[in-house]
Amino acid sequence: KAKGAITETAVAFAPEMDAEITYRHMLEMALRDAIAGGAIDVFYQPLVDVSGKRVLGVEALARWTDATLGPISPDIFIPLAEETGLIQSIGEHVLDRAIRDAKAWSGISVAVNVSASQIHHGDVVEVVRQALEASQFPAERLEIEITESVLLADEKRANEQMRGLQALGVKVALDDFGTGYSSLQYLRRFGFDKLKIDRSFLDGAGEPPESSVILASIIRLGQDLDLTIVAEGVETREQQRWLQAAGCDQLQGYLFSRPLPVAQMTEFIASRQIASAVAS
Ligand code: C2E
Ligand code: MG
Ligand code: MG
Ligand code: MG
Repeated sequence: KAKGAITETAVAFAPEMDAEITYRHMLEMALRDAIAGGAIDVFYQPLVDVSGKRVLGVEALARWTDATLGPISPDIFIPLAEETGLIQSIGEHVLDRAIRDAKAWSGISVAVNVSASQIHHGDVVEVVRQALEASQFPAERLEIEITESVLLADEKRANEQMRGLQALGVKVALDDFGTGYSSLQYLRRFGFDKLKIDRSFLDGAGEPPESSVILASIIRLGQDLDLTIVAEGVETREQQRWLQAAGCDQLQGYLFSRPLPVAQMTEFIASRQIASAVAS
């Protein structure tokens, strides 16, 4: 039955594949225009302490709204940018904007995502060094987020680039932890500063069995390796309480704030600073 289903699907999809290629091509052209026209925007999502009261950092997230197509998710345009080489210019743009915007948020770090292809086909260390210099931004307040896929492609180069970033004073975070392959091995082998646990692990947080057990052991391992541990995708108070008790250092998720445009993030940070000053 399964075999027949596959054949049927393949036949049925054949004409649609042309349409899909045309759509992709159109999307690529639109993305090129957006980059050239400076239409790639940067939003910021806060990383807060476990009490949820203090903003410790922000993550920069690329946003694209096309005039005719409407908003396009990063889950669509980032992979497209990676496949077409456009990720290099998007990456530089996001980095520049992020450190310029974050300059006003004193004491708060800014995290920028870097794709595997940027590490393997570009010189991320040099790009970061120049961006920091041009903006006179303190390296200690910049974090670079990479995923396990970076380590898979070319371990030697990944290691060199990571060390290069850390030599500048920049922190390196392992993003979406737990979604890749031999995660635990990588954690020991590479000297990350920070561990961001993928939000898929949170489904079970606060509800007893299996996933809480796995989550708890990931947190414990992170602590043993002296990493700053972040939980991504925190959406409920129950999750927050559980993560706080389990020993997480930082939390990120819709419970605290969705990603916001720069002006709104400035307000968000200001309001939290006032709130914590009053509270203390
Ligand atoms: P990521 O780096 O893991 O970023 C976190 C994603 O989770 C963001 O999705 C954020 O909006 C979403 N998120 C945050 N809190 C919650 C929550 O409580 N619940 C749920 N359901 N989602 C939450 P976004 O902005 O759509 O970005 C998706 C991915 O695209 C990012 O995942 C990152 O891998 C990539 N990306 C975004 N901007 C850039 C960029 O400038 N450069 C590169 N290379 N990749 C980027
Ligand atoms: Mg990230
Ligand atoms: Mg992530
Ligand atoms: Mg992700």
